[in-house]
Amino acid sequence: MNLRKHLIAGNWKMNGTLGSINEILKIDKLCSDYEVDIALCVPNTIISKANETISHNNLIIGAQNCHYKESGAYTGDVSAKMLKDAGAKIIIAGHSERRQIYKETNEIVNKKATSIINSDLQTIICIGETEEEKNMGLTKKIVCTQLENSMPSISDENNTVVAYEPIWAIGTGKIPSLKEIEVVHKVLRSLISEIKGIETANKMKILYGGSVKPNNAKDIFDIDDVDGALVGGASLKSEDFMDIINIC
Ligand code: PEP
Repeated sequence: MNLRKHLIAGNWKMNGTLGSINEILKIDKLCSDYEVDIALCVPNTIISKANETISHNNLIIGAQNCHYKESGAYTGDVSAKMLKDAGAKIIIAGHSERRQIYKETNEIVNKKATSIINSDLQTIICIGETEEEKNMGLTKKIVCTQLENSMPSISDENNTVVAYEPIWAIGTGKIPSLKEIEVVHKVLRSLISEIKGIETANKMKILYGGSVKPNNAKDIFDIDDVDGALVGGASLKSEDFMDIINIC
């Protein structure tokens, strides 16, 4: 039986303004009854307001990215320490949109995750293969290389969550077969065991992300090594997001 407490994390991407705080409040009100950890990674501009207004029962507010330095001449950037100051408790590192659009390498993701952990925050490290890599049978190799190189040496089950997000499944409505998700999550857990030891591996959460919706969430959450989800599109509507939490 899977004894890891599940986490449902929403990723709002570049969506949401102060006017969206009402959606967060709806989630906050409904989520206090659930035995699930819930995070909403919102735009930096609303972290502070969101954090002030929620009840902090089992919902935390997070960010989607940060710079790996604490401060300095990096115009337009924001550090983990600054996001913590605004109220973030968790920060995504290495989302595929950051890796692909902004060319973030495993080394950069590792530095970002390190700075997040050193700021006493949790990080969600994202990994996942492209459709081309999947078709070439390279999924396991790609995700293991990404995880090995993106996960900091200081990562443990308390400060790090891994999110397997096949890039071709993000925002497309397509998902891998349940067997494929199961196999990848097993491979990732055994890699974490090799690197960090079996105790850490048994406790570290591995989320699935990529087109999780109310109509496929149950099947995905029934997979033994899936400890919750990173949810993009469906986290923008409180009804859909709450349906997914309810199913979890
Ligand atoms: C994501 O952006 O991390 C994501 C999983 O998006 P979606 O749920 O929309 O596929």
